[in-house]
Amino acid sequence: MRCVVQKYGGSSVADLDRIRAVAARVARTRGDGVGVVAVVSAMGNTTNELLALAHALAPRPDRRELDMLVSVGERITMALLAMALRDLGVPAVSLTGSQSGIITDERHADARVVEVRPQRLRDVLERGEVAIVAGFQGVSRTREVTTLGRGGSDTTAVVLAAALGAEHAEICSDVDGVWSADPRLVATAVKLDTLGLDAALALARGGAKVLFEDAVRYARDHGVAIQASTTFGPGSGTLLTTDAAPVDRPVAVTSDDQLVAVPLGPDAAAVVAAVMAGGGRVRRRVGDVVHVDVRNAHGGLTLPGSAVASPIAVVTAAGSGLGERADVGLAGEGALADAAVPVLASGGSGDQLWWQVPPDRVADAVRAIHALR
Ligand code: ADP
Ligand code: ASP
Ligand code: MG
Repeated sequence: MRCVVQKYGGSSVADLDRIRAVAARVARTRGDGVGVVAVVSAMGNTTNELLALAHALAPRPDRRELDMLVSVGERITMALLAMALRDLGVPAVSLTGSQSGIITDERHADARVVEVRPQRLRDVLERGEVAIVAGFQGVSRTREVTTLGRGGSDTTAVVLAAALGAEHAEICSDVDGVWSADPRLVATAVKLDTLGLDAALALARGGAKVLFEDAVRYARDHGVAIQASTTFGPGSGTLLTTDAAPVDRPVAVTSDDQLVAVPLGPDAAAVVAAVMAGGGRVRRRVGDVVHVDVRNAHGGLTLPGSAVASPIAVVTAAGSGLGERADVGLAGEGALADAAVPVLASGGSGDQLWWQVPPDRVADAVRAIHALR
């Protein structure tokens, strides 16, 4: 049966009025004769609030228990949205990630989807009902509740779209699609009507929250069409495409301040193993340090020996083949020098160029690199 997957992020479901408005939007899509799976995030700031509760009890909360805790946020939204749809006369049923057949590995708080068994969702759609799915969560083969990493509701939408053969996954947020930079940070940013999947992945890996990297990678690898849309109000959004024509300037610019630099020391393998076990994602190696994304480390990394992680910030320019453009890399250094932003390290590969800058200069650095577009 024809179906689409829509994902509504936290700000789109932040209160009951917005949940009612999302219900009306879902109902309109279904009115067009298409089956709808609506994936929802936790309301507003709920995930952060739940994490704060955990950290108030324990500096390094147990990762299995964290998953039990934070997976609740999305379950609240799914039940409320199903109620709101029923109130509009639209039959709807809410399902957890586990009930939706999302099977993951055992990596608590940063799990990867390994299989999707969508039969129950298909049954719901065939009955003509809307399926509301709690995003960001799955179940491991040992039947433990897992979560998919911060931003992981995007992943839920994409993996379900692939499993159901949906027409597309529409990622609905508080911005109209993907912009050339975070429009809250860069006044001259423009909306991108289309964006190649490779550049989108480079942007997501560079820290742009608008799309989660695992979702973009899964979409690229499984041929899922992604449309990034605004939940409320007019807007044409951004369509992700398979276009990979090399570019000679940045398509989009982002930054990440959830990074640490970890010295590798004499036993580099042990350090990297500890980083990965603690929920860190290694971004790159730069000489004798690695840059690690710690958004899913929840309480910091436990490193062997005397190794200490220090916070860093990195600005990333994304664009197909951009990592090979040393000329653009040098132009970036020049632009940062003109803006009096020190460059602490820089490099590039694949579809991204990056510059490490002092954390307190990151906004100026993004604006300076964005001006190269
Ligand atoms: P949701 O809760 O809907 O998943 P997120 O907060 O995860 O939404 O992502 C949307 C936010 O991403 C926007 O509010 C915006 O501030 C930020 N953002 C960062 N970079 C970009 C970009 N290049 N284009 C659009 N939004 C961006
Ligand atoms: N609620 C989760 C988070 O805040 C997942 C998501 O919103 O995608 O990261
Ligand atoms: Mg998000």
